[in-house]
Amino acid sequence: MSSLESQNETYDMIILGAGPAGLTAAIYACRANLKTLVLESMLSGGEITATDQLDNYPGFPEGISGAEFGERLEKQAKRFGAELNFAAVEKVELEAEIKRVFTAQGEFHGRTVLIATGTAPRTLGVPGEEKLRGRGISFCATCDGPFFREKRVAVIGGGDSAVEEALYLTRFVDKIDLIHRRENLRAIPSLQEKMFSNPKIEFHKNCVVKEFGGEQKVEKIIVENLADSSIKELPADGAFLYVGRIPNVEFIEGIEKDAQGFIITNEEMETALPGVFAAGDIRRKYLRQVLTAAADGAIAAAMSIKYLS
Ligand code: NAP
Repeated sequence: MSSLESQNETYDMIILGAGPAGLTAAIYACRANLKTLVLESMLSGGEITATDQLDNYPGFPEGISGAEFGERLEKQAKRFGAELNFAAVEKVELEAEIKRVFTAQGEFHGRTVLIATGTAPRTLGVPGEEKLRGRGISFCATCDGPFFREKRVAVIGGGDSAVEEALYLTRFVDKIDLIHRRENLRAIPSLQEKMFSNPKIEFHKNCVVKEFGGEQKVEKIIVENLADSSIKELPADGAFLYVGRIPNVEFIEGIEKDAQGFIITNEEMETALPGVFAAGDIRRKYLRQVLTAAADGAIAAAMSIKYLS
């Protein structure tokens, strides 16, 4: 027994992140009798819990709320014996055979580690954004939408998230200004069709936010039209930012990442470090979806089982 094992119990698999990738991996690992610990800094379910309705996961013909999906995943992983610990990971040492994970609640040891920490919302870095965060600036329509009943809000971004969440917000608000930096939206055509036929949403194409204005809360948004360099001021009670995601990798060193910081793995979810895997949105990949995250998690667990045997 190594000195580490004599001080601490050693898990077969430590999973960083309790989103769809991490919890699916936990289900597969536990069913193969791996002693499995899942570390999570926030809520089980990951980003999907901030989504009102998950409509494209197979097997749920009526859709399912993101929060309920997260709860069900946690329940399923626990049913097979996964240990879940709500502790933020601060540092990892992954080179040795026994890997060390340091959290605010102490140190954990594992024979394999799966990094499934997902992504966080990207910010714009414009004046007023930091000051008014939580004072009208939000990254979660599901959480904050009901506070903006009969108000006017802006949604920034042109991807699936921006358009989907703008459509969700129309339940509450009177008017939405959707601000996108290009002529064409990135969102899938079916979402675009719904958006363009919704009278509450006004599309501001080729526009970027220069500043969020307001003292105690958001009051206005200064926008530049890139096509003609004109500046306009939009009255606003709030702003929802959906300008993409950045990977949660600050604490991970010594693993190959792409230029945006996403972890590079092979198709088996292996990183270049033996016994270290990555799965879900944190990976460099083409399609970031709950379904593909879950599939990554299953593969990572299978490879972990193979590695340990
Ligand atoms: P995304 O697809 O990366 O879109 C981000 C949007 O923000 C893009 O329109 C981008 O503009 C814009 N943007 C990026 N940086 C900006 C900046 N500095 N200033 C202004 N605008 C900026 O991100 P997402 O919409 O969050 O989606 C992430 C992933 O989740 C995607 O794979 C998406 O398909 C998936 N998703 C799927 C669903 C669904 O299936 N129902 C729902 C939500 C998300 P450009 O277009 O000019 O690059």
